[in-house]
Amino acid sequence: MHTTTKSLTERDQNHLWHPLTQHKLHPEMLGIVKAKGALLYDESGKEYIDGIASWYTTMYGHCNEYILSMVGRQMQQLDQVVFSGFTHLPAIELSEALINILPDNQQKLFFSDNGSTSVEVAVKMALQYHFNKGHKKNVLLAFEEGFHGDTFGAMSVSGLSVYNGPFEDFFLEVKRIPVPEGKNIEKILQELENLLGEDNTAAFVYEPLVQGAAAMKMHDAHGLDQILALLKKYGVLLIADEVMTGFGKTGTYFASDQIETKPDIICLSKALTAGLVPMGLTTCTQEVYDAFLDDDIAKGFFHGHTYSANPLACTVALAGIELLRSEKIQRNITNIMKWHGVFAEEIKEHPKVKNVRRLGVIFALDLTVDMQRYGNLRDKLFNHFMNEGVFLRPLGNTIYVLPPYVITREQMEKVYASIRSAIALF
Ligand SMILES: *Cc1c(COP(=O)(O)O)cnc(C)c1O
Repeated sequence: MHTTTKSLTERDQNHLWHPLTQHKLHPEMLGIVKAKGALLYDESGKEYIDGIASWYTTMYGHCNEYILSMVGRQMQQLDQVVFSGFTHLPAIELSEALINILPDNQQKLFFSDNGSTSVEVAVKMALQYHFNKGHKKNVLLAFEEGFHGDTFGAMSVSGLSVYNGPFEDFFLEVKRIPVPEGKNIEKILQELENLLGEDNTAAFVYEPLVQGAAAMKMHDAHGLDQILALLKKYGVLLIADEVMTGFGKTGTYFASDQIETKPDIICLSKALTAGLVPMGLTTCTQEVYDAFLDDDIAKGFFHGHTYSANPLACTVALAGIELLRSEKIQRNITNIMKWHGVFAEEIKEHPKVKNVRRLGVIFALDLTVDMQRYGNLRDKLFNHFMNEGVFLRPLGNTIYVLPPYVITREQMEKVYASIRSAIALF
């Protein structure tokens, strides 16, 4: 038997290269050995409340027993099969369950592997949609501070490009508009009218209502609706990136449910598979799908991933949707929204706090102290929370929580308390 006295933190440094990490500045990773419900356990046995549901994925709790039992059964039945030429029950059942809760105009599902690829697929779908109809359009439209992933198409439409320097010369052509914040809407609509006159905009990619990576920046639903309605009038395809907002986080199944103008295409991942396995989905309307039907084979959508619609991932997603629709989870969501409301009322008067905002189970505030994004102060905040047994990832001067739906009142109170004591540090 291979035995070692070295910690995971030490052994990690031999061969592993972590995402979004400058290893020279941050060589040490914390070894996590176990997770259950809203809790993570490190190798020394210390527990942490997972206040961001492991990047918005484990909404029904880590190692959820219902999901585990469903996927365990599926594992004995059918593990993997090529999804080109074959189909299977988990994919079919997932499609039926999802179409049931998606905005009414959604009809078709296309599988990929993660959030970035779901956006990549959406962008390619939109470009080919126009191409197939005989009017090639080469410009994409996106919000200034949007984030849509790390593959080339997704990176191109992302506006948060602080670290994209080496790649910018290779990006797709993207025009940007600010998010609607009340007064600026007239100016945005005017700008759009000018832009759309050129008739070369293929699609608008947007995170509806909340921009996660922009530090839970929230914008105005009515303003967004005005933008979407105008774009729709000009035949621009609307691509809602609900990778973060999907599956109940904003208080409705999807953020798009709160906006009158519905997207043509929706990108899903993260909570789609409840933190168990990766999967991405791009859904679209019948009209988008129909633009690919032709006697000419080249008009089909020639995009595919090896693990498309993996039966285990589909089973997880289906079980997740069942849980999301359950009375228990819906009640939990309502409770978390209520607790956030009470905490928001308390903390918004604090002199060191501004921009207290919330939507569904998402809660965020900004500290009035000036902090460099990812600077030392951000690390100070992060370490404070971890010492308190709370896993949060502050962004610059923003502290936000997006707890799993199964978090208990007591656990939530502990998170709020750690935020109070964090504010007191400054
Ligand atoms: C996380 C995220 C992505 C990228 O998803 P990955 O699975 O990390 O590739 C895209 N869009 C939004 C809105 C996200 O939050």
